[in-house]
Amino acid sequence: MNSLDSLRSPLNFLNTRLPNIPHREVLEADAAWWRTAGLPISHSIDRAGTPWLRMFDRLGHRVDEILYPAEYQTILRRGYRSGVIWRALEEKSLIPTYLLVYNISFHDPGVCCPYTVSLGTAVPLAKYGSPELQQRFLPQLTRKDDSVWQGATWMTEIKGGSDLGAAVETIAHPSGDHWLLIGDKYFSSNANAELAVVAARPEGAAAGVRGLALFLVPRHRGNGHLNYFIRRLKDKIATRSVPTGEVELRDSEAYLLGSADSGIYLILEVLNLSRVANSVVSVAVAQRAMAGALSYAEHRAAFGKPILEHPLLRHQFEDRVKALQAAFALAWDSVELLNEVWMERPPYSNRYHLFRLVAHLAKYWTAEFAVDTAKWAMEVHGGLGVLAEYGAERWLREAMILAIWEGTPHRQMLDGLEVMERKHAHKLLFQRLAQTAPAKELQEMESEVEQHLKLPTQEKEALAEPLFRRLAAFTAETLTVKSR
Ligand SMILES: Cc1cc2nc3c(=O)[nH]c(=O)nc-3n(C[C@H](O)[C@H](O)[C@H](O)COP(=O)(O)OP(=O)(O)OC[C@H]3O[C@@H](n4cnc5c(N)ncnc54)[C@H](O)[C@@H]3O)c2cc1C
Repeated sequence: MNSLDSLRSPLNFLNTRLPNIPHREVLEADAAWWRTAGLPISHSIDRAGTPWLRMFDRLGHRVDEILYPAEYQTILRRGYRSGVIWRALEEKSLIPTYLLVYNISFHDPGVCCPYTVSLGTAVPLAKYGSPELQQRFLPQLTRKDDSVWQGATWMTEIKGGSDLGAAVETIAHPSGDHWLLIGDKYFSSNANAELAVVAARPEGAAAGVRGLALFLVPRHRGNGHLNYFIRRLKDKIATRSVPTGEVELRDSEAYLLGSADSGIYLILEVLNLSRVANSVVSVAVAQRAMAGALSYAEHRAAFGKPILEHPLLRHQFEDRVKALQAAFALAWDSVELLNEVWMERPPYSNRYHLFRLVAHLAKYWTAEFAVDTAKWAMEVHGGLGVLAEYGAERWLREAMILAIWEGTPHRQMLDGLEVMERKHAHKLLFQRLAQTAPAKELQEMESEVEQHLKLPTQEKEALAEPLFRRLAAFTAETLTVKSR
């Protein structure tokens, strides 16, 4: 298959990148379904904008129901049935999950958010929940039919998502065998989930991130009443196939995961799962935007021939396919490393620190690539690119969110610097790349990083972006050569 043809479907592209694709028949059936049945539903949900929130029933009781078109459940439930959550826990591998995520997000990136946050609920429960909690809640999250429960991961509050240690004001009070949470969560995706993991500070705990703990919060209290309230839904530019709201916790019944003083590790483990998903989704969105641009460029004529046949555009397509392959190699390396370390608990191994660095590079690089590619794909469509009726603009809206949630580019750079400085993760990365990277380039990159880490703090942070960009590009390019 020529490299441009690989753009036309997610599986075509995956086939060119990965030697073994488990559960290929599931992916093929899903892809065929999305092309015919799923895509029209996805586009209509995107066009419809923010779903309705029905807060009260006719008798004035609080119900907090999110009203999507009925077909929403069809696209949402399909991914759960295909195994986006249950396979991870049953097969003890994240590979099938992230393959499904790639395949689905080519058609609808937003719907992968419910899957990611459900994974981010199931995994800490399976790792850190008491046997009673696991018995009570895990089977619901791993059901294979439409009665499956959904999860959610709520950390961010009104004062900000980057500096959780300062911004989280939700307090947890002990109450018998459980806890009661009081606070407000400002960005709460999958706002109607049956079960959420929530960051809160136990009463009297230390300030900063060290004092945070992670709690499991069911949608309903033991007496059947609502355990949290949805104050309103966010009117977002994209990812409209996940409802994002503001959530009020009012003496909400909660169960501690792990120990109260290790919450920050659990929170970061949850974030890791979603950052890796974000990288995979970003590459899929970039491929989707390119596929749209390709089919347009093959049919739109200017100066006597299809615009694709003009040397400048053809060259841009070919270059961008190479960049897509590099972005995929970086994203997939973060998947494979996570798949090795996801069951680790603190204190973590060196392999885990290597994973963290690769995950920061991948989250940053792939999201920037998705935004840039979606913008370019709009340009290929000319004026039609900015018209909502033809859809090219959707991929730019979707990509913009990928760059911000799960930690902005700034966060990735600063956390990437931290893991290099404290854990020497760059040395592990360079060892990993040594087999494939040209020796001279590797040496230059290594010395650039070492020099940078010696800078005074102010300068080190101020100049982080060009270094991080070069390191991400170098890593992605080297990994692409490795995977050829
Ligand atoms: C659609 C959507 C859904 C979301 N869903 C969820 C969810 O389900 N659960 C959840 O917990 N969160 C969710 N979020 C929140 C998301 O994780 C945050 O938006 C993100 O972490 C950034 O936080 P912030 O928006 O508060 O920006 P802030 O933290 O206020 O940051 C503002 C700007 O300052 C920059 N900045 C901060 N510190 C530094 C620094 N030291 N140096 C340089 N620059 C800095 C940031 O990078 C950013 O550009 C969602 C966000 C969106 C957009």
